[in-house]
Amino acid sequence: MTMIVTTNSPNWKVDARVQSKKMKCPRCGNETVFNFCVGLERYEQYLFFKIPIEKIYGFKCSICPYVETVDAQVAKALVKRGRV
Ligand SMILES: [Zn+2]
Repeated sequence: MTMIVTTNSPNWKVDARVQSKKMKCPRCGNETVFNFCVGLERYEQYLFFKIPIEKIYGFKCSICPYVETVDAQVAKALVKRGRV
């Protein structure tokens, strides 16, 4: 039996391959560092295994939970470009 699970609060993982950026957070108002993160929006539950089926990418505020999401294609381009 498989089940599709959607989570609103993915566990963001920092991807250090992409340069973090400094900007003012629209949520907490702090001028802070945004790290490039990868999160799982949905995964499939199969017995004891969780299989990721959809990834989301974004820059996450280092102070609050705000994430500025980017499209998967943009994210791939960022990873390809690497740190500048
Ligand atoms: Zn913030």
